[in-house]
Amino acid sequence: MKTEHEVFGGPPGTSYDVARWRDDFPILRERVHGKALVYFDNAATTHKPQAVLDAEARYYAHDNANVHRGVHTLSQRATDAFESARAKVQHFVNAEAVDAYEKLLGPHTRLVAVTHLSNALGSIVPVKRVIDLARAKNVPTLIDGAQAVSHLAVDVRALDCDFYAFSSHKIFGPTGIGALYGKAARLKAMPPYQGGGDMIRAVTFEKTEYNEIPYKFEAGTPNIAGAIGFGVALDCVSAIGLDAIGNHERDLLAYATREVSCIPGLRIIGTAQEKASILSFTLDGVHPHDIGTILDREGIAIRAGHHCAMPVMQKFGITGTARASFAFYNTREEVDKLVAGIHQVRRMFR
Ligand SMILES: *Cc1c(COP(=O)(O)O)cnc(C)c1O
Repeated sequence: MKTEHEVFGGPPGTSYDVARWRDDFPILRERVHGKALVYFDNAATTHKPQAVLDAEARYYAHDNANVHRGVHTLSQRATDAFESARAKVQHFVNAEAVDAYEKLLGPHTRLVAVTHLSNALGSIVPVKRVIDLARAKNVPTLIDGAQAVSHLAVDVRALDCDFYAFSSHKIFGPTGIGALYGKAARLKAMPPYQGGGDMIRAVTFEKTEYNEIPYKFEAGTPNIAGAIGFGVALDCVSAIGLDAIGNHERDLLAYATREVSCIPGLRIIGTAQEKASILSFTLDGVHPHDIGTILDREGIAIRAGHHCAMPVMQKFGITGTARASFAFYNTREEVDKLVAGIHQVRRMFR
């Protein structure tokens, strides 16, 4: 009996070995009129690998019972196996994630906070769907756009989120400042969280009247120079245009993905269909920090570690990744240097 990983001779990433995979189909060893079978009628029906034959035989031999009916052991085993097949189908067509979130949305949900673009994986989260489902249950939404705004054109009104936050320093502006968009009705209903100059309209011993939004939330002397720099950074990005930036970065990411995919032992972490500008990877037998250190000697700066996303790392069964993240000023030539650098790491750890 084969385990799941053995079904096709190895874990994902193993190179395409047709002979090994044919081995799993006993019927392909069949001879017809004394000749080796050449089966080209796969459109009519396909052959079944040994693992499929074994699973069916095992069910009839050990677990056979009707599903969802009985409380007895066989019925429970049959139900578990049947339902686990449903989960595999959902996963196969990427249908299961959306549902899991819907189940989490309950009467006790106070806020849905979700990232727009994962800093660890590069996955673009379908936030519109997330927001629509929350809205249907009257739950306010907060989107973390720290990674998204420099790669995607963001329209908070089209998204219809309640809050959208992003940092200036990730979009070519100064550190220490960022922006929080909020729907006016939400912000008006919220009390100030800090006291200081500018947030008060009138004060008497009887009562305090707060300033209107946004000043109510901007107590004290602000980071004036930072705000001005932040604004100019947004001008720069708008002058190039996020559509043009998106196209350039998509090309870079596709190119880099293709180039690193042939490096032996390299595993890309984060392979969502919709992704942007982040190439996270591990290299068999090499700690991500060592990758970072060796690349640094070649003048190549990447990030190594868990990227403040430990649960994500846990889900992939790793402690960290090496992460190259691209911006509109990066080039294919730089990607070539990265790829050469990773090859060098590979050689050093062979
Ligand atoms: C960088 C980052 C933050 C934190 O922003 P800072 O301004 O650096 O504190 C939050 N969320 C995501 C997705 C980020 O990439």
